[in-house]
Amino acid sequence: LLGGIGYAGWLIYEDRHPVEQIEADPTKKTLVILGTGWGSVSLLKKLDTENYNVIVISPRNYFLFTPLLPSCTTGTIEHRSIMEPIRSILRQKKARAKFYEAEATSIDPERKVIKVSDISEVRGDTLETEVAYDMLVIGVGAENSTFGIPGVKEHSCFLKEIGDAQQIRKRIMDCVETATFKDQSPEEIERLLHMVVVGGGPTGVEFAAELQDFFEQDIKKLIPELADRFRVTLIEALPNVLPSFSKHLIEYTESTFKEEKIDIKTKTMVKKVTNKTVEAEATRPDGKKETVVMPYGLLVWATGNAVRGIVKDLIAKIPAQKDSRRGLAVNEYLVVQGARDIWAVGDCAVAGYAPTAQVASQEGSFLARLFNNMAKTEQIEDNIRELSSSLNVKPGNSAEVTRQIEEYERQLRRIKDIKPFHYSHQGSLAYIGSEKAVADISWFNGNFASGGGLTFLFWRSAYLSMCFSTRNRLLVINDWLKSKVFGRDVSR
Ligand code: NAD
Repeated sequence: LLGGIGYAGWLIYEDRHPVEQIEADPTKKTLVILGTGWGSVSLLKKLDTENYNVIVISPRNYFLFTPLLPSCTTGTIEHRSIMEPIRSILRQKKARAKFYEAEATSIDPERKVIKVSDISEVRGDTLETEVAYDMLVIGVGAENSTFGIPGVKEHSCFLKEIGDAQQIRKRIMDCVETATFKDQSPEEIERLLHMVVVGGGPTGVEFAAELQDFFEQDIKKLIPELADRFRVTLIEALPNVLPSFSKHLIEYTESTFKEEKIDIKTKTMVKKVTNKTVEAEATRPDGKKETVVMPYGLLVWATGNAVRGIVKDLIAKIPAQKDSRRGLAVNEYLVVQGARDIWAVGDCAVAGYAPTAQVASQEGSFLARLFNNMAKTEQIEDNIRELSSSLNVKPGNSAEVTRQIEEYERQLRRIKDIKPFHYSHQGSLAYIGSEKAVADISWFNGNFASGGGLTFLFWRSAYLSMCFSTRNRLLVINDWLKSKVFGRDVSR
């Protein structure tokens, strides 16, 4: 603990105060970074900001540690514990970078400008303006996919942002309190306490697990009359949940869910949603299809990603992107194909990898290295040019100057030799409830799959080490301890 406090103190001491930051140089190129998610923030973390005029634009003025978002829906973790203000991140940079809390709505690759829109509650209006760039990094992520299924947008909760987790937390308690209200019919109680999760990917699985934990460990103790009424159903269109995990872990997850009394309905595709029911087409074991209607109190929609409007708009403007359906096609240096001076990272880029936080974060770090090297290259090329011109003016020094030029050229060759982006998969982890987790880890070129209580401790320590800051880490530990000792907070 003392070590932790000391480390935290050291980190705070190491932080720069904004007045100590050097001013951005207006003669340098303007690098605009869109977004404050995994890709953009890992780029910012490693970028030498004194080389460019850096402008960050995002409607969200914080970085969100998304792997622990499902835990916020039940209050195991408080939302501010996994948020890191972008202002604190920028304060640690050597040169000052600008941040605009606004939404980028469209990009004009010809004029090299971005249209931004700032919705201000204080002003009570929306201000539209343009920001010019020399170099642009798009890290705007993706939005929730609904596949145009009727009723999904209107009636479901999603699980992407802090606001979504808060909405779910309120809705769970609303269902519980309404179900216990005087004179409710048994059908209505059954509906209100039926929690439906659509999508058996890691998001749906982790949320269903957290929800069942919340009920078993807290709600049931506080309101025992609900003991046999609360139900969690996970609906998945494919034959199994967690399709990206190994077979053994899929089976382990499914059997753990059975023990936890989470009902998994596989080969079931949701086709329609109303304010009280989910309508799905289920494939029976004999291959016949049947329509099932499930009344629900809470519906959480976790069926993956869709392309954002700003990205669709840019794709339509670049002829080389005409076949891009899932995002901006990028080359091995993450340059948007068919565009000049535009790079893309994370879920909005299609580089041939799954849309995960791990990929986005490695892409961001790669771009930081690339930009740092590009700036160094320009600097060295300037130096060489200057020395070469002095060679003619002062011929007496020629041996020394030539030696310096050769040294610079050697440095240049070393820097310019930057390898294309290569993703190194460290593994996948998912929490599956009752203090168990599954892990598919890449280990010395091999794979290591494990599930259970020990894996749960590994899951916790891995996520803790990945948290953005020491402050986040301490807050998350505190939340875990608090919910273990006092139970989760069930107030709305
Ligand atoms: P996903 O794309 O991984 O899973 C969505 C699931 O929804 C799919 O299995 C799909 O078959 C199902 N589905 C789609 N439409 C349906 C319908 N109408 N009815 C029923 N089922 C339907 O989505 P996700 O879980 O949000 O994950 C998105 C990405 O983020 C993935 O790449 C995932 O690996 C990653 N992620 C990883 C973790 C982790 O490793 N712990 C956690 C969250 C997300």
